[in-house]
Amino acid sequence: MRYISTRGQSPAFSFSEILLGGLAPDGGLYLPESYPQFTDADLTAMRGLNYRDLAFYILSRLIDDIPAVDLKNIIDNTYRAEVYGFARKSQNADDIAPILKLADNLYLLSLSNGPTLAFKDMAMQLLGNLFEYVLAKKGETTNILGATSGDTGSAAEYAMRGKKGVRVFMLSPHKKMSRFQTAQMFSLQDDNIFNIAVNGVFDDCQDMVKAVSNDATFKAKYKIGAVNSINWGRIVAQVVYYFKAYFAVTTNNAQKVDFSVPSGNFGNVCAGHIARMMGLPIDKLVVATNENDVLDEFFKTGVYRPRGSANTYHTSSPSMDISKASNFERFVFDLVGRDATKVRELWASVDNGGAFDIKHLMSQLAEYGFVSGASNHANRMATIRETKEKYGVVIDTHTADGLKVALEQREKNTPMIVLETALAVKFEDAIVEALGQAAERPAGLFEIENLPQKFTVMDANVAQIKDFIVKHT
Ligand SMILES: *Cc1c(COP(=O)(O)O)cnc(C)c1O
Repeated sequence: MRYISTRGQSPAFSFSEILLGGLAPDGGLYLPESYPQFTDADLTAMRGLNYRDLAFYILSRLIDDIPAVDLKNIIDNTYRAEVYGFARKSQNADDIAPILKLADNLYLLSLSNGPTLAFKDMAMQLLGNLFEYVLAKKGETTNILGATSGDTGSAAEYAMRGKKGVRVFMLSPHKKMSRFQTAQMFSLQDDNIFNIAVNGVFDDCQDMVKAVSNDATFKAKYKIGAVNSINWGRIVAQVVYYFKAYFAVTTNNAQKVDFSVPSGNFGNVCAGHIARMMGLPIDKLVVATNENDVLDEFFKTGVYRPRGSANTYHTSSPSMDISKASNFERFVFDLVGRDATKVRELWASVDNGGAFDIKHLMSQLAEYGFVSGASNHANRMATIRETKEKYGVVIDTHTADGLKVALEQREKNTPMIVLETALAVKFEDAIVEALGQAAERPAGLFEIENLPQKFTVMDANVAQIKDFIVKHT
């Protein structure tokens, strides 16, 4: 399997060659040169496999430059009950991504049972093990530099902690994350994890990361890498749970299901699109956004109009507060018939702060199953309350967004599966506002704010972060 760029001007590479990088050299995103196809016989063979075997069945079609025994080992080490142990009491942690039935044809897919209580662990944990393996093979090391306002940074740190050949330098705005999120990250004592609390806001952190990455000499000398949302390894890992959920709620391959996905950078729902392209019988892919509705606008009008960070709202579902959807280019590449020249043309405008209009392709959009909707703060609060009252289940603000839009798009006879992207306990203030009391904490996290913390405070100064990296490598 070779991977090509959506912009068509980079050479094709194997999986291991693109794993550690971000954008392709031509500025595009990597996709397989063609999607492997699963037949009806494949679907039947996959039905009933446990998560690990299912993951191997799917990923071995997309990753062909890691020997099968090694890939199997990596997968088996990643998807273990001990790693995904924060399942609800009624659920089986060894199921890895258990289904929770809310009502007839209405389900939650629990993806947030990993160490940081958000779905990003599902992919990031695999990435950590793949990074360690590929780096060892190449005899290389990497220094991951990132900026976070919460979810991504913690998922990356928990995935990379203790991994040989990897160091993580994670910048976060000092005293701006929730106490719980801060404690999650800063309580890590591993020698290869460096938390840097920057006197400033998230954008200052991101600017520092950009400045360091733009210094090509420094970047090469200190092997600066990233694990951002466009990483193909993350997308590929997310494809698996769409299959998992499909088999959990159907009894034969003639049935179709719908998925509702709380979306920001379009990584999660893009994995659903790829699962569908590989032959999974998905009817609708529901893209749910919050007040930052750039994707909802696109799927309703055919106009893609990124907003710029000054026009991005801070909402009660903060992990979806994006100004542009960085993985969206992958879907548009397929939508325009894999015409890289067309993609270059469209993104020439986007990359210059503009927009594009592909209204004329609206009928094709429906063929890909995409529909969309959005929620606001009041909708999410109401959905959290109603879900507790009706089903006795406490959900977080992101999942509430997905459920709100799912209920609008639901059809009587098609199972609707809502992806649970975080646990409520991560967003205490919002849950207290909705329910008048905090969500129950999973055992093992009661005292997390009282653990000793390891972090360095720094000004928003590029020279200082470079100096820090030099001193610690
Ligand atoms: C990252 C994140 C999302 C958005 O996922 P994308 O892949 O960026 O669309 C939704 N909910 C939560 C809790 C997240 O952490």
